[in-house]
Amino acid sequence: MATATNPTERLSSYNPATNDLVGTVPIHGQAEVDAAVARARVAAARWGALSFAARAEELTAFRKALAARSDEVAELLHLENGKPDLEALTEVMMALGHIQHATACAEGAMAPRRVSSGLLANFRATISYHPLGVVGVIGPWNYPLFTPMGSIAYALAAGNAVVWKPSELTPLIAVKVAEIAAKAFAVSDLLQVVTGAGATGAALAKSAVDKIAFTGSPGTGRRVMMAAAERLTPVLLELGGKDPMIVADDADLPKAAEACVYGALTNAGQACISVERVYVAESVHDRFVDEVVKQVRTLKVGGDDGDLGAMTSPAQVAIVKDHLEDAVAKGAKVLTGGPAAITGSYIQPTVLTDVDHRMKVMSDETFGPVIPIKRVGSLDEAVRLANDTRYGLGSSVFAGKGARALADKLRAGMTSINSVMSFAGIPSLPFGGIGDSGFGRIHGDEGIREFTRIKSTAEQVMALPVNMMSFRQPKDAPKRLRGMIKQLYGDGVLAKATDWFRKLRQ
Ligand code: NAD
Repeated sequence: MATATNPTERLSSYNPATNDLVGTVPIHGQAEVDAAVARARVAAARWGALSFAARAEELTAFRKALAARSDEVAELLHLENGKPDLEALTEVMMALGHIQHATACAEGAMAPRRVSSGLLANFRATISYHPLGVVGVIGPWNYPLFTPMGSIAYALAAGNAVVWKPSELTPLIAVKVAEIAAKAFAVSDLLQVVTGAGATGAALAKSAVDKIAFTGSPGTGRRVMMAAAERLTPVLLELGGKDPMIVADDADLPKAAEACVYGALTNAGQACISVERVYVAESVHDRFVDEVVKQVRTLKVGGDDGDLGAMTSPAQVAIVKDHLEDAVAKGAKVLTGGPAAITGSYIQPTVLTDVDHRMKVMSDETFGPVIPIKRVGSLDEAVRLANDTRYGLGSSVFAGKGARALADKLRAGMTSINSVMSFAGIPSLPFGGIGDSGFGRIHGDEGIREFTRIKSTAEQVMALPVNMMSFRQPKDAPKRLRGMIKQLYGDGVLAKATDWFRKLRQ
């Protein structure tokens, strides 16, 4: 039997910088989750039947309402997650950008397409895209608004209703956004929030949604996929990363160092696309390290105006500490910060050198303000080490003329050239990974189509004298078919002509 909410049981959300209570939310059980999904199903029928223009009007109203309350939302991000004000506002701005982009590109991305009908020349072949219905979104705590919005905005723009389960560490932001959505959308229950810890997420993964978009760790991603398998619910998994950065000897070193420091330390390193390890060409290694250390030393940790905020959870602080101690025990050199420089929820930005792939800091997701830098003898070695990972989310290369070729060799879902993380800020670029970083894509046209079902339609526009889709065939049909096979796919004239045209096009 489905479990229901115990009305006396509530989830508390704390400010990680002060441990003060920010607020409480209900803990929803399977029964509440199922009820939310049932309400969403009604909303999806109304929303999915609207024209793109009508949906765009409402999405625009939602975006404007969210923008109007951006200070309030940013303040909650700051309080619940611990990030400084500037980072909180940046997150709100990026989320708004995706709502705007998804609204603008949905109709184009879902436009029906005519394709070649091949041998069946008397047919019109069309691919069309339709809303799935109800999408369940399970989000993490590190970017509590931006990350889930990468699914929510695209799912809504594609004509679906959404049930969102935010992280138990940052539920109030989601509740606030749902409140704003409820006022902005004419269709009720279009964007609902269910709250609770892992059990509530598990309830959503098991419920009758048409797709689950999950963002979080690979371990939880596997559990979500197993739960969804029960109903064969498709899943989109945005998981962790161990993003490499490569610096070649002809890179612009000050720029590369500045990007590295930002890419590794923004959000206190708690980003799935953080720079997690750096490979630097031998000849520029020392100069690069000096520049990174110089810049790191200017950063302020803590305070509303700090560059680095509090870590969101004590569990994450423990992981970072463990990685640092493991690295030091295996011979890494600490140039700034280090395991001894951790106080409460604050970690001083740490630069390490003399690192290798035996260390957790080079193989597992650290998700903290750490910059491990490794010297490499050649770019081939850099590529080999960069690809020596079970993850494959983001990556970056800093180089001169060989930069693009270098980028092409990286086995990752996304690569920035002479910048870091920029692919996440370009809404038309699909976002996602491979391997333990997950599969499926948010953002861009692919991100819209991720939340659609594809339908193929074959429409007969005229009848041919010979109808292959009938049992009434002439006696010599097998003989004719043998001739056709040879002609079309063997050594026949038609097959040769097709091959010749293909070569011509190459
Ligand atoms: P997490 O896996 O601990 O939790 C993510 C969400 O899953 C939370 O809402 C949680 O309550 C829920 N959950 C927990 N157990 C569940 C279960 N059994 N079934 C269903 N849901 C369950 O992840 P986290 O610690 O919140 O987030 C950090 C991780 O997220 C990092 O690995 C980070 O790299 C990753 N991340 C990835 C992206 C991306 O786009 N690829 C973006 C942000 C974060």
